[in-house]
Amino acid sequence: MKPPLFEYVAPHSIEEALEALASDDMARPLAGGQSLIPTMNFRIAAPSRLVDLARIDALKGHAVEGDVIRVGAMTRQRDLERDEAVRRANPLIAEVLSNVAHIVIRNRGTVGGSIAHADAAAELPCMLLATGGSVVAHRAGGERTIAADDLFLFHMTTALEAGELLIEVRIPTLPPSTGYAFQEVARRHGDYALAGVCALVTLEDGVCTAVRLAACGVASKPTRLAEAEAALLGAPPEGEALARAASAARDGATAADDRQASADYRKDLVAALVRRTVAKAAERARERA
Ligand SMILES: Cc1cc2nc3c(=O)[nH]c(=O)nc-3n(C[C@H](O)[C@H](O)[C@H](O)COP(=O)(O)OP(=O)(O)OC[C@H]3O[C@@H](n4cnc5c(N)ncnc54)[C@H](O)[C@@H]3O)c2cc1C
Repeated sequence: MKPPLFEYVAPHSIEEALEALASDDMARPLAGGQSLIPTMNFRIAAPSRLVDLARIDALKGHAVEGDVIRVGAMTRQRDLERDEAVRRANPLIAEVLSNVAHIVIRNRGTVGGSIAHADAAAELPCMLLATGGSVVAHRAGGERTIAADDLFLFHMTTALEAGELLIEVRIPTLPPSTGYAFQEVARRHGDYALAGVCALVTLEDGVCTAVRLAACGVASKPTRLAEAEAALLGAPPEGEALARAASAARDGATAADDRQASADYRKDLVAALVRRTVAKAAERARERA
């Protein structure tokens, strides 16, 4: 199916893009087009104007700066996945990205586009929550930073306002003594996750001194697993504590039955994935110590 008629503009600067968005309520930014164009072809979305961000050099590129990885919104997912400096600074990013769709889609899809799209089952929003990252947004007359904890409001809904442009994604580097893991279950490799869990575990003398867990696919938005984190904090990441964490994650999953999976199945998945990712992250934390 073809999309409904739309106007197309291709600005060369952030300022021009903001103007093009501000002058039409129904205008939308176009990044890699890997989600927006299919939704237009299915007539789920019908923007009157597409503001193509592809020619704006200021939105491209990424760099490791101190304890943060700064990623321009238009950085292609595959470029970030393959960057050696990024892998050294936070290897979780490549592990997560290898689960996003397929290579051809990651060659076009952007980091900013995936975060702004905010699918509840998407991997990158889950990673941003788990790492405690943030985004920088611009609108006419201002800039603001939004923490991942405040960004994701609902499936495909973020705190970004109409006319506001996501400029940069900021991902913390992996802290010392910390292990990481991302795992998901999907019907086929490259599909959105039925459930996925991202774990960061910091160990001192075998005890968890910091834990961050986030899940995708099991609620109406990517979700921090705060009660599961609390069950692990101050304990070795195994045995009773791990069982309590898995059980808390299971109880916290709120996704309803749908065509892909029953609610109970997703609950079982998130519990199993908490066990697996925490164990893997703990193993890596020990290796790094
Ligand atoms: C077959 C297939 C399988 C896929 N599987 C997965 C998967 O398993 N996991 C997954 O996470 N994704 C998956 N995707 C989606 C893919 O990762 C997309 O690349 C991503 O969701 C959107 O990125 P994009 O750059 O293509 O954004 P676009 O499609 O161009 O835009 C997406 C939305 O974000 C908005 N937007 C884009 N950039 C900005 C910005 N800078 N500021 C404000 N708003 C902006 C757009 O207006 C639009 O509403 C799949 C896609 C396909 C086609």
